[in-house]
Amino acid sequence: MRPDKIYFEPEVLDYDLGHQLKEQFHDIEWKPIENHNNIEELRKKENSEFASMKQLLIIGIRKTHKYSENHKVSDYLVPYTSSGCTAMCLYCYLVCNYNKCSYLRLFVNREQMMDRLIRTSNKSDRELTFEIGSNSDLVLENTITGNLPWTIENFLQSKKGKLTFPTKFNMVEPLLPLSHQGRVIFRMSVNPQQIISSAEVGTASLKHRIEAINKMVEADYKVGILIAPVIMLEDWKALYTELLDQLMEGLSEKMKKQMFIEIIFMTYSFVHRKINSEAFPEAIDLYDQDRMTGRGMGKYCYRPELRAEGEAWLLGEIERRFGKGKILYFS
Ligand code: SF4
Repeated sequence: MRPDKIYFEPEVLDYDLGHQLKEQFHDIEWKPIENHNNIEELRKKENSEFASMKQLLIIGIRKTHKYSENHKVSDYLVPYTSSGCTAMCLYCYLVCNYNKCSYLRLFVNREQMMDRLIRTSNKSDRELTFEIGSNSDLVLENTITGNLPWTIENFLQSKKGKLTFPTKFNMVEPLLPLSHQGRVIFRMSVNPQQIISSAEVGTASLKHRIEAINKMVEADYKVGILIAPVIMLEDWKALYTELLDQLMEGLSEKMKKQMFIEIIFMTYSFVHRKINSEAFPEAIDLYDQDRMTGRGMGKYCYRPELRAEGEAWLLGEIERRFGKGKILYFS
C-alpha cells in the first residue's frame, strides 16, 4: 500500500516501528493529530468519500488493551497492532458510526502488546489461544509493517499458548520460513468468486486464497477455513456449490485431512446500507427485505427458516465432500 496521506500521533516517533514507518513513507505528507480515535477532519467527511478515505493511513498508540472472552477457536479476542483495513468489503464488521473508523490504523506500541500476551499466557494454568486479528487483517497489515513474523517469533518467548488470526489475503510468503512450533492457527476466509468480486472489493481472489492455504499447510501451520460471511443471494445454492467444488479440487490432501471449518452467516445493518448506497451506488445491494429480519439496533440477519435451511444444506454438502466432523460451528 502507498497511502495518499498519513495522520500520526507525534509520540509514535518514540517507537522503533514509528521510525521504520517514517523512513518507509518519507515522501508522503505526514499530518500530526491528537488522537487516532477522533480525527475531526475525517469525521466530517461524507459517506461518498468512503473509498478515498481507505487510501489514508493513521498511525497511533493503542491505549485500550482489554481482552474479551471468546469461545470459538480462541479463548480471548486481543486488541492488537491494527484496526480497519484498506479493502472495502460491503458487509465489513469493522465499519462503525458511518465512516469514522473505516481506514487502516496502525499501532506502534507492539512491544507493550506482546509483553501482555506473553504474561497472560504464562500466568494461565492451561494453554490459551489468542485471537489477534479480530480488528483488522494482519496479513494485509504485514505488507506494511512486517509485524507478523515479528509477532510469531517473539511469542515463542512464552512457555505455552497459541495465536490465531483470519485473513482474506494471500501474501503469506514471509510466514512460510518461520519457526512457529505449531503455535499459530491460520484461518482463511473464503466465499464464491462472484461474491468476492462484487462484495469483497480489494481482497484476494479465491484461487489465490486456496494457493495460500496450501502453502501454509505445507509450512506445517494449523489451518482452518472460514466460510464467512455466507451471503444468501437468490442463487446461493449454486454459488456455494461452486465454492465447495473449487475447495475440493484446489485444496491439498494434507489440508483436507487436517482442516476445520467455521461458518458464519452474514449480518448487515442500517449503517452499512447507508454508506454503501452513497459510496458504491453501483454495487450489489446485500440487504434483502424478503430474506432478512431485524435484529435490534438497526441490524439485520437472515430469517430463521432460511438460515436453518442454509445450515442443513451446507452441513450435507460439506460432509458429502470432506467427511463428517469438519465443521467447528455455525454462527
Ligand atoms: S478484509 Fe476484513 S477488515 Fe478488510 S474490509 Fe474486508 S472484512 Fe473488513
